[in-house]
Amino acid sequence: SFSTVARPAAAAAAAAASAAATKVPTTKLYINGEFVESQTKEWIDVHNPATQEVVTRVPVATQAEMQAATAAAAAAYKTWKKTSPIQRQGIMLKLQHLVRANMGDIARSITIEQGKTLADADGDVLRGLQVVEHACSIPSLLLGDTLGSLSADLDTYTYREPIGVCAGITPFNFPAMIPLWMFPLAIACGNTYVLKPSERNPTAAMKLVSLAAEAGVPKGVLNVIHGSIDSVNYICDAPEIRAISFVGSDRAGLHIYSRGSANGKRVQANNGAKNHGIIMPDANKEHTLNSLVGAAFGAAGQRCMALSTAVFVGEARKWIPELIERSRELKVGSGLDSATQVGPLISPQAKKRVLSLIQSGVDEGAKLLLDGRDVTVPGFEKGNFVGPTILADVTPSMKCYKEEIFGPVLVCLSAETLDDAIQIINNNPYGNGTAIFTNNGAIARKFTNEVDAGQIGINVPIPVPLPMFSFTGSRKSFFGDLNFYGKAGVQFYTQLKTVTSLWKETDATTRAAAVSMPTMR
Ligand code: NAD
Repeated sequence: SFSTVARPAAAAAAAAASAAATKVPTTKLYINGEFVESQTKEWIDVHNPATQEVVTRVPVATQAEMQAATAAAAAAYKTWKKTSPIQRQGIMLKLQHLVRANMGDIARSITIEQGKTLADADGDVLRGLQVVEHACSIPSLLLGDTLGSLSADLDTYTYREPIGVCAGITPFNFPAMIPLWMFPLAIACGNTYVLKPSERNPTAAMKLVSLAAEAGVPKGVLNVIHGSIDSVNYICDAPEIRAISFVGSDRAGLHIYSRGSANGKRVQANNGAKNHGIIMPDANKEHTLNSLVGAAFGAAGQRCMALSTAVFVGEARKWIPELIERSRELKVGSGLDSATQVGPLISPQAKKRVLSLIQSGVDEGAKLLLDGRDVTVPGFEKGNFVGPTILADVTPSMKCYKEEIFGPVLVCLSAETLDDAIQIINNNPYGNGTAIFTNNGAIARKFTNEVDAGQIGINVPIPVPLPMFSFTGSRKSFFGDLNFYGKAGVQFYTQLKTVTSLWKETDATTRAAAVSMPTMR
C-alpha cells in the first residue's frame, strides 16, 4: 500500500528543524474565514518530486484546531442552510470564473508539488472546474418531486435539503480536481464543509479555498484542516460531521468507510483500481496504440483511471513490439519542461515501491520488454523518475498484476477469446474502469453487458464521465451507495424531506376520529 505512515518522531523533528532553518513557507489552516498558522509542533515537509526541494511545510493540525474548524462549520450551517439556492448559484458562477482565470497559477503549483506536466495539471484543474460549472445549475438540481390530489385535498411533495457539516479527504494525485469534486457541490446544496487535502500537496486546494472566499463563500462555510491519519480519524468520529467524501487508496478507503459508517455517517469512498484495456484484433491499430501509451504512461501512471493492464486478444498481441517502440519515445523529465510527457513519481518511497513491483514481475517470470528503471534526467538527478516500463507474459497470479502499481508500468496479458478477457477482468477485485478497443459493435455491446466495472470506454481509454453523469466505480474501487458528482453527488449531499399536506376548502369535518392506519385512498 502507498498509504502514508507516521514517520518516526526523530526524523520528523529533524525535517522540521531543517525546513525551519531555510525559512520554507508554511501551509495555513483555514478556519472560520481566516488563514491561520497552526500551533502544532508536528510538521510534514512537501517536496518537489523532480528536485526534492522542500516547497512548503504542512501542519499536523491539533485537536483544538480541528474542533475549531468543525465548530465554525456547525455554526455557519445555521445560516447557510437558509440561503436561497439562487444566492448559492451566484457564488458558484463567480467561483467558476475565478478558477478559470487562475487556472495557470493553480496548475503550476500542482506541477511543483505533484510532478505532473503543466498540460496535464491544466487538465486536473479543468476536470474539477467542470464540476463547479455543473454546480452552477444547483436550483434545478435541487428540485424535488410532487404528486397532487393523492386523496381528497391531499398533496405530497419532497424537498431536497442539506444534511449539515460534510467533510472531504483527498489523495495526492489530483490536487485540484478531487477537492473540486467535493466542496463546491456540497456547499451549493446548502451544507458547510471541512476539507482535509492530501498532506503531500495541499497548495492547489488552498488556492481554491481562497478563490471560494473571493467568490463570496461566507466565513465558516468552508474550512481546511491538515494532517494525516489523526485528522482522518477526527473526521470519522466528530459528531457534528454528517457525511464524508473520500478518494484515495483502498486501505484508507476501507478504514474511513468502516469507521465513518459505524458512527452513523454517510460515506462515499472512491478507492484504488486496476484498469484493463482489451485489445481486439479488429481494432484500429493507430488509435489503440496511441490510447494505450497515453493512458498507461500519462501522469506517470498515477491516475486511478490509468489503463495499467492490457489484455491482447488473439492476433492483437502482434502489436506489442510497436507499442514498445512508441512508449520508448516518450520524454521523461520535469513537469515544468514543456517537452516532458512523463513526470516524476510523488516520492522516493513511491519510486522504490514501483521498482520493487517491476522486479517482482521479472522474478515471477514476466518478460521485461521495456525497462524504465534506470532513466536519468539531466539537471534533475534527484527526481523520482521512472521511465515507461512494459512487462509482458504477465499472469493473474503475479504480484505485479494483483497490486495497483501506480507508476508508468504497463502489464500485458494475453487471452484467446473475448470471453477469456472478460473473465480476467471480472476475476480482478477492482472495478473502477475498463476499455475495449474494437471496430465491432456486437463485441463492444457484449463487453459492456458482461464486464463488471463502473466505467466503460469503447475506444476511449480513460472514460471519466463529465459531471452531468457521475463517477461510477464499482466493487473494491468504490464503497458507498451514492457516487461522486452528477445526480448521485447531489443526492449524497442532500436528504429528502417529504411533506404530506391537507388543505380543505370547506370545514365540513364529521365528529369521528379514524384510528386505523391512514391509507390515503
Ligand atoms: P492515500 O490513501 O494514501 O491518501 C488519501 C488520503 O487518505 C490522504 O488525505 C491521507 O492523508 C489519508 N490517508 C492515507 N493513509 C491513511 C490511512 N492508513 N488511514 C487513514 N487515512 C489515510 O492515497 P494516495 O496515495 O494519496 O492516492 C492514490 C490512491 O488514490 C490510488 O490508490 C488511486 O487509485 C486512488 N484514487 C482513486 C480515485 C478514484 O476516483 N477511484 C481517484 C484518485 C485516486
